[in-house]
Amino acid sequence: MYDIIIVGAGPAGLTAALYAARANKKIVVFEANVPGGQIVNAHMVSNYPGVKSMSGSDFATNLYNQVIDYGVEVKFETVLSIDENKNVTTDKGSYSAKAIILAPGVDNRKLRIENEDKLIGKGVSYCATCDGNFYKGKDVAVIGGGNTALEDVLYLSDICSKVYLIHRRDSFKGAELTLEEIKKKNNVEIILNSSVTKINGIEKVESIVINNLDQEQIINIDGLFVAIGHEPKNIMFKNVVDIDDKGYIVSNDGVHTSKKGIYVAGDARDKILRQLTTAVSDGSIAATVAIKEMEN
Ligand code: NAP
Repeated sequence: MYDIIIVGAGPAGLTAALYAARANKKIVVFEANVPGGQIVNAHMVSNYPGVKSMSGSDFATNLYNQVIDYGVEVKFETVLSIDENKNVTTDKGSYSAKAIILAPGVDNRKLRIENEDKLIGKGVSYCATCDGNFYKGKDVAVIGGGNTALEDVLYLSDICSKVYLIHRRDSFKGAELTLEEIKKKNNVEIILNSSVTKINGIEKVESIVINNLDQEQIINIDGLFVAIGHEPKNIMFKNVVDIDDKGYIVSNDGVHTSKKGIYVAGDARDKILRQLTTAVSDGSIAATVAIKEMEN
């Protein structure tokens, strides 16, 4: 029996682990993929207070090593279900604890257009920092209008021959400073008011069809980087904790779910700002509250 089971080894889950380990609690963290969560995909983190600039993967590695140094057990197992008695079933076993902290993060949102799924890994990517180097000297497109898309464009413009930035609106929600940097690049073409409607290619991406104010245009590219935000992946918890209409775990006052002894931290919960700063904040509060409540 563990004191706390933490689901997810992103910044929220690992911070919860750090705080719980420092309080001498017996904990385990379950991670289905690689530790670090979405921040691993960030080319550069420049808005984390006290860290002027660091790659997302370095940040994740440092946090993971910090947690491991405290003796935290991280098991690379996929959580399949939890129950209200704080039992957790993974693809490899069953575990129980006095408390559970849910920090599963979010998935990449997909365009849901023809050939997208078929060409994942064959030109379609959701991570410029992971896959950008495969497109050295080639033409690529980035879809999206948020910070991820803008930062992906900056990163890819130093590697690729040409980068199209395609956004469905006439303005971006990503940082103005990053956009200014992009505009200085002579190998970036910005296409606004345009949606990608189809990806062409049989063995690999060859071109995309975009719809620009009712006019169709075909753009030849080798790689398509989809950076259109994220979606929650909380379905497996829906019989135990309340989920809102967008799929996020309801977290009334921050980290409490609707079920006593089950807490939530990070991007998986309903919140107005999903950032590294808010994820680590959630993780520290969730662990502190869980420990306090289990001892009362
Ligand atoms: P985001 O801010 O949610 O932006 C998603 C973008 O994709 C929006 O421009 C959205 O357009 C567009 N979009 C959504 N669905 C689409 C679809 N089906 N087809 C075409 N376009 C679609 O996502 P994000 O850029 O991944 O950022 C997520 C969070 O991480 C944000 O809070 C962001 O600030 C943060 N972040 C921060 C940094 C940093 O500070 N260094 C870096 C990366 C990300 P609409 O506006 O039309 O919906």
